[in-house]
Amino acid sequence: MTKPNTAHIQLLQARLLDEQREIEKRFSENDHYGLANSLRDTTGELSTIDNHPGDVATELYEREKDVALHEQEELHLNRIEAALTAIADGTYGICKTCNEPIPLERLDAVPDTLYCIEHAPRQHLSLRRPVEELFLEPPFGRTSMDEHDSYNGFDGEDAWQIVEQWGNADSPATSENRDVADYEHVGIEAFENDGFVESIESFLATDITGRHVSVIRNREYKNYLESDEGDHGLEADLEDQHL
Ligand SMILES: [Zn+2]
Repeated sequence: MTKPNTAHIQLLQARLLDEQREIEKRFSENDHYGLANSLRDTTGELSTIDNHPGDVATELYEREKDVALHEQEELHLNRIEAALTAIADGTYGICKTCNEPIPLERLDAVPDTLYCIEHAPRQHLSLRRPVEELFLEPPFGRTSMDEHDSYNGFDGEDAWQIVEQWGNADSPATSENRDVADYEHVGIEAFENDGFVESIESFLATDITGRHVSVIRNREYKNYLESDEGDHGLEADLEDQHL
């Protein structure tokens, strides 16, 4: 293991300063990877509003790449600055964790390191997440009231169901629900009762006196009989009345 001498440190310092200049030059030349420009300028479109999102997918991908590259360069720059500071205060070449000299070969390979190989901090994934994610998990975020037993009102999920009636990207074949046979029922909780709790409420009707009961043979009624629900006595009565 060779400890770096002053001349060698000066050589490494020159390399670090070179790298630092290069990154700063790249930042100024390409305008922070074009991140300072609006997406509209880079697509050449007059507006991105009335276009299908797919139209700007390439630009979006490029922009995401720019953000990642920019972040990477920023990180590199921070490391270089820390190494230069260490050179200035005489702690360069000494591992910050174990205080042992860092092998010269390692410094040559990674001049911006402040750690020996055993104590090199693990590379972490970026913690920068889009703020929208806070609201996407659980589904429908803070507006979903399904978990609250006491709440029966209109919530975010209901709003989604209304919008979803106009179509989504699912097909009956790809639906999570195995009972789905047509596009009508692709949406989430498409089978849920709308406007009533028990299905019997949706097909039994009375006149204004409340004494004469009639049955409306709607889909719920059919499902009710087919799924063998409720009281079979009722079924017989219905037949007797020739309804
Ligand atoms: Zn160490």
